[in-house]
Amino acid sequence: MKKRIAVLGATGSIGKSSLDVIERESEKFSVVLLSAHSSRSQLEQLKKQWPSAVCVLTGESSQTLLDAIKDLQPDIIINGISGSAGLEPSFAAIEAGSNLALANKETIVMAGKLILSLAKEKNVKIIPVDSEHSAIFHLIEAHNAPEEIILTASGGPFRKLSLKEMEKVTAQDALSHPTWKMGQKITIDSASMANKGLEIIEACYFFNMPAEKIKVVIHPQSIVHSMIRLSNGAFYAQLSKPDMRHPIHDALHWPQAARNNLDILNFDSLTLEFEKPCLEKFPMLGLAWKAAEKGGLYTCAYNAANEEAVAAFLQQKIRFTDIPVITCSVLEKNWSLHYSDKETILKADSDARLEAVKIIKKMA
Ligand code: NDP
Ligand code: MG
Repeated sequence: MKKRIAVLGATGSIGKSSLDVIERESEKFSVVLLSAHSSRSQLEQLKKQWPSAVCVLTGESSQTLLDAIKDLQPDIIINGISGSAGLEPSFAAIEAGSNLALANKETIVMAGKLILSLAKEKNVKIIPVDSEHSAIFHLIEAHNAPEEIILTASGGPFRKLSLKEMEKVTAQDALSHPTWKMGQKITIDSASMANKGLEIIEACYFFNMPAEKIKVVIHPQSIVHSMIRLSNGAFYAQLSKPDMRHPIHDALHWPQAARNNLDILNFDSLTLEFEKPCLEKFPMLGLAWKAAEKGGLYTCAYNAANEEAVAAFLQQKIRFTDIPVITCSVLEKNWSLHYSDKETILKADSDARLEAVKIIKKMA
């Protein structure tokens, strides 16, 4: 029987890669639900290509999408929505008993403990799609529990700039990523390394590891997707071309390790470099470790403050280097309340945004 798949954020970078994977294996998968936010004409095009899929535009209200998830109960829901808007659909997926192929890292950063315990309770599997976490997930399945996780990071377009030069970069500079082609928000986050910050937090929750056991190494070629270190000192790594269709394919086939027909990595002329990230140039890393250590609602506040700061940077209200300044100020407030419900998380998200907007207004 074909697996019934929903692709949320179908018009985005993850959404398009997901549909490509599904199209290549249409004998194994059928598309039952597609969503977009405001790209109406693109969604209409997709409806022609996938006529049996329910297509939902969430621009005016996201309730129709939540209802469709509940009604259709797909076997797997790929959540490729960008930002905190991905949280509610992730909850809806788990409530519907659908396995969740999760690209939307914000779900875990905002609500890690709650969403993972709910998934356990509902006997639903969350399979990471973020390339690093997908690599670690599969490495842990193949080996023992790790002593340490090593997340690789491309270092983004500003790896070689000085802090002074980074003050002057434009949105266009920040939007040209050297190795990955992705949506706007995650591309800016890659340039500030907030993306790696979010991934440190994501790894803590996903793999139940303390923040100090999650390391980051710059690897400009984006071939090694992450590594684990076992107690005997051995490191295990996962390598492939930087192509999100790999982790999407693996998530759709889990628990099987199925063959794919994507390009294979060629070692004939391959250089792999590794270097230490500069914490002074990329303060979003240090802030993420701190937020992860503190737990509670700090990780939710980190995400909210960064989202507001990135939006302000794209609107040319602040400098690129103000993004960590704003996030740091927001994190100085008290976010230590421990949560056990979604409403508390949404309230903290909104409070942190208000705080960030106040700071942005003072800067502008
Ligand atoms: P894109 O910006 O390319 O796509 C975002 C998708 O989400 C679009 O379909 C968009 O619809 C939809 N969307 C935007 N805002 C909302 C909203 N408020 N409510 C509902 N849907 C919305 O993003 P990416 O594909 O790059 O990233 C998606 C997620 O995956 C992010 O969480 C990102 O961190 C994560 N991720 C992405 C990777 C990548 O390679 N791109 C790698 C690893 C993780 P519309 O077109 O109508 O605006
Ligand atoms: Mg990633």
